[in-house]
Amino acid sequence: MSYTVESIDSVGVVGAGTMGSGIAQVAASSGYNVVMRDIEQELIEEGFSNINQNLQRFVEKDQLSETEKEQIIGRIDGTTDLEDLEDIDLVIEAAVEDLEIKQSIFTELSELTDDTTVLATNTSTLSITSIASATDSPERVVGIHFMNPVPIMDGVEIVVGEKTPDEVVNLAHQFAEDLDKQTWESDDKPGFITNRILMPWINEGIRAYDEGVGTKEDIDKGMRLGTNVPMGPLELADHIGLDICLHASQTLYEELGDRYKPAYLLKRKVEANELGKKTGKGFYTYE
Ligand code: NAD
Repeated sequence: MSYTVESIDSVGVVGAGTMGSGIAQVAASSGYNVVMRDIEQELIEEGFSNINQNLQRFVEKDQLSETEKEQIIGRIDGTTDLEDLEDIDLVIEAAVEDLEIKQSIFTELSELTDDTTVLATNTSTLSITSIASATDSPERVVGIHFMNPVPIMDGVEIVVGEKTPDEVVNLAHQFAEDLDKQTWESDDKPGFITNRILMPWINEGIRAYDEGVGTKEDIDKGMRLGTNVPMGPLELADHIGLDICLHASQTLYEELGDRYKPAYLLKRKVEANELGKKTGKGFYTYE
């Protein structure tokens, strides 16, 4: 079977949250027709509202005209019905970071779509091979791991599952490059390259805060100014979503042991539904 980026006209996005809405936006901005699916209409509307706000910022900076903004939004259809992804050429799943949920989505997608449809996941840490094992054609499954916020971040990590052939890997690189992103490749090992290294850093920041090493502001400022990163660990955790950080840390802990154990305070914050920017409160409070 041959896969080329030229044969991709339509892109399906499963999940209209932080990442799904960003992926839908960048794909539509590059001219792809997009179908964005979530489980409730209200969540799709929130996804469209995110896209509208993001694009409006480009309009205000004169980087996009009002007409172009409307054209981009016009290329995205929202749906709660997975069956609307039946005729899609490339599906990117960006639902919650939960293996069982992702596997059930991939089982349905593999039954629903043609065997030429590439099925990609935006998972942060879960195994591409485990997700692919829920399908009848694991050779169609690849990781296309976008960074947050998708419209701003230049990098995309391509993750190669045990059964992902070169042509699907190449297609994933070409597709991301077509969205003006730069790519790198990771083997299907826990956390891939980025989160394997990032999550222990975030957890150590949370522990430092919980154990009173410094105020949250000083920990973030110290890491920003002391190590020349754009965000400190606590503000970055709020930005990613504390639930996503906890799921990712839990996976790394289960696969790689004690050094990756999620911080105590990260678990308590998630239990209190203080998930960061998306719920208005995490380590910091947001309007
Ligand atoms: P989110 O919580 O903002 O959005 C997830 C969305 O998926 C929600 O709207 C939820 O309703 C929806 N969903 C749940 N089950 C679904 C189903 N069966 N079908 C369709 N939609 C469903 O989460 P997010 O931050 O957008 O993360 C999505 C994925 O991207 C996760 O796998 C996460 O690990 C990964 N990721 C997140 C980041 C980040 O910084 N947030 C970065 C890279 C990758």
